[in-house]
Amino acid sequence: MKRFTRQDQDGSVTEQAPPAGTPDLAPQDAGAPQLGSAPADGELGSVRASAPGSTPRASLPGGDTADVIVVGAGPAGSAVAYYLATAGLDVLLLEKTHFPREKVCGDGLTPRAVKALTGMGVPLPENDGWLRNRGLRIIGGGGRIELDWPELSSYPGYGLVRARTDFDQILARHAEKAGARLLEGVPVTGPLLDDRTGRITGVTTKDGRQFRGRLVVAADGNSSRLSVAMGLHKREDRPLGVAVRTYYASPRHDDDYLEAWLDLWDGSSLLPGYGWIFGMGDGTSNVGVGLLNTSAGFGDIDYRDLLRRWLATMPAEWGFVEENRTQPIRGAALPMAFNRTPHYTRGLLLVGDAGGMVNPFNGEGIAYALESAEIAARVIVQALARTTASGSELVLQTYRRQLKDAYGGYYTLGRVFVELIGKPSFMRFATKHGVKRPAVMRFSMKLLGNLTETRGGDAVDRLLNAVSKMTPAA
Ligand SMILES: Cc1cc2nc3c(=O)[nH]c(=O)nc-3n(C[C@H](O)[C@H](O)[C@H](O)COP(=O)(O)OP(=O)(O)OC[C@H]3O[C@@H](n4cnc5c(N)ncnc54)[C@H](O)[C@@H]3O)c2cc1C
Repeated sequence: MKRFTRQDQDGSVTEQAPPAGTPDLAPQDAGAPQLGSAPADGELGSVRASAPGSTPRASLPGGDTADVIVVGAGPAGSAVAYYLATAGLDVLLLEKTHFPREKVCGDGLTPRAVKALTGMGVPLPENDGWLRNRGLRIIGGGGRIELDWPELSSYPGYGLVRARTDFDQILARHAEKAGARLLEGVPVTGPLLDDRTGRITGVTTKDGRQFRGRLVVAADGNSSRLSVAMGLHKREDRPLGVAVRTYYASPRHDDDYLEAWLDLWDGSSLLPGYGWIFGMGDGTSNVGVGLLNTSAGFGDIDYRDLLRRWLATMPAEWGFVEENRTQPIRGAALPMAFNRTPHYTRGLLLVGDAGGMVNPFNGEGIAYALESAEIAARVIVQALARTTASGSELVLQTYRRQLKDAYGGYYTLGRVFVELIGKPSFMRFATKHGVKRPAVMRFSMKLLGNLTETRGGDAVDRLLNAVSKMTPAA
């Protein structure tokens, strides 16, 4: 099975893919130092639970103790830190890299992500690098269709493109502005555990420091070494994607639509996945391919070669040739459909990729990172306002249920979908007969993008919502 790795600016490797069967326990995490004393009954970790702002308050400005420690300042970590700080909690956000830093991504934001960003009060002006798009262009099976994002009361009618180099830094600074304390260049090496309960009471970092918190959030992405060190491994019964991407100087840099190509061939097999061309508006296009692990040859595919072969079929004037490539081809895994559970255990909450929240229908992860962060923050704020540990625990246990209520049925449907499109005959049939039928594609766009009115809506919205609700969340 092929592996992809990425060297960060600090020299550490942050992305690892593929996936299935790959042991993800970092040896250094397993033996993390443990915190000595067990808490007395009625205490949460080593700090008595108290309402935010009330006394006694364990956190000191600039100190190594906080109400909540968030590990990883990607979209999920920065969003949870933003919401917690806004609610008046002392939040320490620990990030192993320094901003600005690269993150392997397609850089595409659907209306779902736009809504989440708007809810966080992130300004999105067009003249400040937020490139708007009006929909999806889908190409495949000899057909080509442009579908505008639906204008709904629940979601705006536009998406965005923004390079993750900027995007992640903007969100991290937004969290800082709200009052979160961000420490960059601080890799977390493992949890601090309460001897008696096994509950997480903080984390250790590479430079030998210890940070303590009443709760800890794992927002450290797909590999989530912190979750692994707490015994939470990836589930092999959940789908996983692998994607590679790069950038080319290209006249296709300016496009009103995100473009997806369904014709990815491996010999005579049509692969379950798609290629994308997202114009960045800066003279370059983000170009990549993503595949699901439900195809027979998933582990044996050379993704870089697949990308090159696919690009060789593009018109020469688009410029997707080696001389115009501005970045290396890099890849990473997309953990889908809750591929790490439970999402709460012993003082640790999982958000974003750490909890495997990528949408299995379309590979979108940023919106779910932001949304799960908001749900986690709401739970944490209520939990820390309780006056007893048992009361806090009752609230914390609802995090799992709230995530299941939000995505469980939809992700179960997504698992059926990825099994189906893993069969080349189904994929061929769907591509050949679907792309040329606008009504089918409009339905597909709402289903694949999870873009329905949350209440009411048209017949398609009501059907999709009903099916998602009726499907058991597993
Ligand atoms: C090729 C590719 C293309 C994609 N395209 C899209 C797309 O177009 N749109 C979309 O919505 N999604 C896309 N995704 C998915 C998306 O990138 C992820 O779902 C999203 O980044 C998840 O955010 P996160 O905050 O959970 O994790 P991450 O973005 O991975 O952030 C994790 C953070 O934790 C830090 N960290 C890790 N370990 C430690 C540690 N030990 N100590 C301290 N910090 C640590 C990392 O440095 C990082 O900053 C794509 C993914 C891939 C691989």
